[in-house]
Amino acid sequence: MLQNVGQVLRLAALAAWSSPPARLRTSRRAASRQEYTFFMPLTLTSEQRADFARRGVSRRGFHQIAAMLAAGSAFPLFSERALAQRATDHSLAPGTVKIDANENPMGPIPEAAEAMRAIIQEGGRYLDDLTPKMVRTLATMENLDPASVYAYPGSSDPLFRAVLAFCGKERPYVVADPSFETGAHAARIVGAPVINVPLVKETFAHDVKAMAAAHPTPGIIYVCNPNNPTGTVTPKADIEWLVNNKPADAVVLLDEAYIHFSSSAVMGSYLVAAGKDVIVLRTFSKIYGMAGLRAGAAMARPDLLRKMNQFTSGFMPVTATTGAIVSLGSKTLIPERRKTVHDIREETLAFLASHKIETIPSEANMFMMNVKRPGREFATAMLNEKVAIGRTWPVMPTWVRITVGTAAEMDTFRAACIKCYTA
Ligand code: PLP
Repeated sequence: MLQNVGQVLRLAALAAWSSPPARLRTSRRAASRQEYTFFMPLTLTSEQRADFARRGVSRRGFHQIAAMLAAGSAFPLFSERALAQRATDHSLAPGTVKIDANENPMGPIPEAAEAMRAIIQEGGRYLDDLTPKMVRTLATMENLDPASVYAYPGSSDPLFRAVLAFCGKERPYVVADPSFETGAHAARIVGAPVINVPLVKETFAHDVKAMAAAHPTPGIIYVCNPNNPTGTVTPKADIEWLVNNKPADAVVLLDEAYIHFSSSAVMGSYLVAAGKDVIVLRTFSKIYGMAGLRAGAAMARPDLLRKMNQFTSGFMPVTATTGAIVSLGSKTLIPERRKTVHDIREETLAFLASHKIETIPSEANMFMMNVKRPGREFATAMLNEKVAIGRTWPVMPTWVRITVGTAAEMDTFRAACIKCYTA
C-alpha cells in the first residue's frame, strides 16, 4: 500500500515539475506574478516535519494529503455541489427546479460571458498574465497588497487547503452548528477533532465567545458569514472580538461566499490588512454566477498563504479568470443582483409566513424552513413535484435549506411546498 502511495507521489512530482507553474517559478518574470509553488516534495523539510508533528498529523495522514492534493481529487468530493448531490441521491428528472445547491440561476453577467467567449480562441496558451491581473484587481478593491491575495478555482479548494495546513490531532477544527460542512470533512483527513459550537439562539449568529473557549489550541476557527445554511450574519464587532481573543496560533477562517448578498455583513479584508491571523475566502460561484466556471480567492498574510500552498497550487482556467476580472469591474452587478435576490427571497418568506410556515430571516440566497417532519422525507415529496430542495443538518432535522431561485422557479416552489407541507 505504502509503495503505491509512494508511486503516486513520484508520478505527481514528475507531473508537477513539467507543468506550467513550475515553468513560471523559474522564470525571471515570476517575481512579479502570483508565486506558484507547484512542487511536490518527496522528502519533507525539517520545518514541515516539525509542523506535522506539532499538529499531531501522522506520516500516513501526510501521505494521504499529499496523494490527494497531487491528484486534485479530494476537493470536488466535498464541494456544495457534491454535498447537494449526495443528499438528493437521484438524478433529476428533466424540467426539475433546482434550488438545492445555492447556485445562481442568473449565470455570469453578459459582459463577462462575452469576454470568456472571446478568450476561448486564445485558450491554446497559458496566458500567464491573467491570474496576476485578477489578483491585482481584487487586491486593489480590498486595499490589500497583491502578495496577500491568491487565486483558486473556487473557494472549496482554499477552504480544504487551510484545514490541511493548520489542523491536526492536537489542533481541532472549530465550527458553528449548523454550518457549511466542507472543512469538517477536511479535518477528518488530518485526524483533527471537529468541535461543533451551536449558533446563538434567536439571532443564529456565530457564538464567538463559545468558539474561542471551545479548545485551548484550535487549528482553525471557521466563521461563515453569512452562514450556510441559515443565511444569518455575524456582526463585525463579534468577529473582531474573536480575532483579538482567540487562542494564540489559531487561524480564523472567514468564509465570505455569500457576503455580497448581505446589506449588513462587513467584509473581513481589513483584518488581513492589519496583519491578523485571518484568512478570508471569496468565491465567484454565488453572486457572480460562475459556479461551474470555477474562480475564487483567499486573502491572508503571505506566510499563511504559503502554508496553504506548500504542497501544490492550482492553475486557474483562462475562461474563469477572465470572467472574474470583468465581473469585478462591474459597478452594477452586486447592487442589482443583491436587490433581485432580496426581493424574491422576501416575497417567498412572506408567502410562507402567510401559511404559518416557520422560517429563519436570511441575508443570503438561501433560507431555512421548518417542515415539522424529517426534512429528508419532505425533500423526497418535493422531488416528486419536480422541485429539488436543499439538504437537512442533523442538529435541525425538521428544517430544510431552500436556495432562492428565479421568480418563476419560486412560483413552482410555492405551489409544491403547500402541497407537500400539508400532505
Ligand atoms: N463556502 C461556502 C459557505 C459555500 O456554501 C460554498 C459553496 O456553496 C463554498 C465555500 C465553495 O464554493 P466554490 O467551491 O464553488 O467556490
